[in-house]
Amino acid sequence: MTPFFYNPEMRQTEDDAVMVMCPVCGNPVNNHAVEELYTVDVVESDFRVRTLDDDILDSWLVFCHHCLYITHDFSLIPDNIAQLREIVDTEAYRERFSDTNPTTMELFGHYLYLLEKAEAPPMVFADTYLRMSWLCEDEEQSSKADAFREKAVSNFAKSLLVSDPDRKERSLIYYYIAELSRRNGEFERAKKTLLKMDMKQSMFRRLYDMQNELIRARNRNAALMPREES
Ligand SMILES: [Zn+2]
Repeated sequence: MTPFFYNPEMRQTEDDAVMVMCPVCGNPVNNHAVEELYTVDVVESDFRVRTLDDDILDSWLVFCHHCLYITHDFSLIPDNIAQLREIVDTEAYRERFSDTNPTTMELFGHYLYLLEKAEAPPMVFADTYLRMSWLCEDEEQSSKADAFREKAVSNFAKSLLVSDPDRKERSLIYYYIAELSRRNGEFERAKKTLLKMDMKQSMFRRLYDMQNELIRARNRNAALMPREES
């Protein structure tokens, strides 16, 4: 999912994909794995992509060693760059980096702080909380994973109110809410939300059939997307 708070028009060219300039401080930074190729193994029912190589979740966020700005992709220049510069420059932000080698979870925590200060749109929060739930799953902290999923749900719901998604985006958001509710054992909410998807689109019809079966079976553990039949 693309963080909606970036303006894709302002992307730098592909030629400087690996070594780019930090949009906050202007120093050269290594833009890591964003453009790297990986082999998809499976896609899960909440659209988590599992790869055959390294776990891409670990390198999803990168930070600038000069100014400590955190992002998913340094080649994107956010619309609110002036505001981000100010936040990154505060004592409160810099103090968070007492450890110069943060764990993935710590980095997500700092990123969340940045998003909160910048008042990022709910979709960006939803996406971030969802990724944080995956991190917790990997560490077998299931109640923390549930809590992050719940935060993702409320931000997906909020995004329906504050942005004006088109039909397809709207259905996709309903799907996310239904899927994450099911994974948290909230079967009634899952069922109700699932019915709001636009079933005239075959993709959502298929997603509906899959979820409907799992919800009826009160199955909160299944996490595999059925393979597309062609
Ligand atoms: Zn920087």
